[in-house]
Amino acid sequence: MLNIVIFGAPGSGKGTNSALIVEAFKFDHISTGDVLRTEIKNGTELGKIAQAYIDHGNLIPDELMINILASKYDTLKDSKGVIFDGFPRTIAQAEALKKMLEERGEKISTMINLEVDESLLMDRLLRRATLEGRADDNEVTIKKRFEVYHSQTAPLIEWFKGEGLYKGIAYTEDMGIEGMANKIIEYIKTIV
Ligand code: AMP
Repeated sequence: MLNIVIFGAPGSGKGTNSALIVEAFKFDHISTGDVLRTEIKNGTELGKIAQAYIDHGNLIPDELMINILASKYDTLKDSKGVIFDGFPRTIAQAEALKKMLEERGEKISTMINLEVDESLLMDRLLRRATLEGRADDNEVTIKKRFEVYHSQTAPLIEWFKGEGLYKGIAYTEDMGIEGMANKIIEYIKTIV
């Protein structure tokens, strides 16, 4: 089974590209953000805990997140490939993912970093706020999410490089969403 991490700053297109990859290869998709938003919508205990973190642009504690991820992963045993979207976001989560997969005879196949110029991201996120109505897509929370990204998540780039699993795909405005997705799909074709 392929285990592909889709990585990038807030607004870099992890969700959009994950959906297109899933469609192209019939893979499964774990978006930790979507899992948490569903819990919030359903008013569960987990949702209540998660909401306070999400609303402030902070990360849910690692241990909680790792447990959620593992139980979701275990529902996908017969999958051809799993896309991890929004996980890992800290070094501790990356180490836990590696261990969790090893325990199941699996490994991380690759990490794809969506390299998008930061000046484009804020606009995208503010536009998404209007389109999708995501509560955490307001200017204050977005700024906080960038801070959190830089301090806790971006160090994973070096971690994945160290593991020999890093693949960067750079976005330029002339490519458009489709051009970016095609580049990613072409790369995944080389590893399936
Ligand atoms: P996303 O939809 O991936 O942008 O995630 C939205 C929010 O959910 C983040 O800003 C975090 O508060 C929370 N979240 C999602 N994934 C994780 C994760 N792997 N670790 C901690 N918090 C997360």
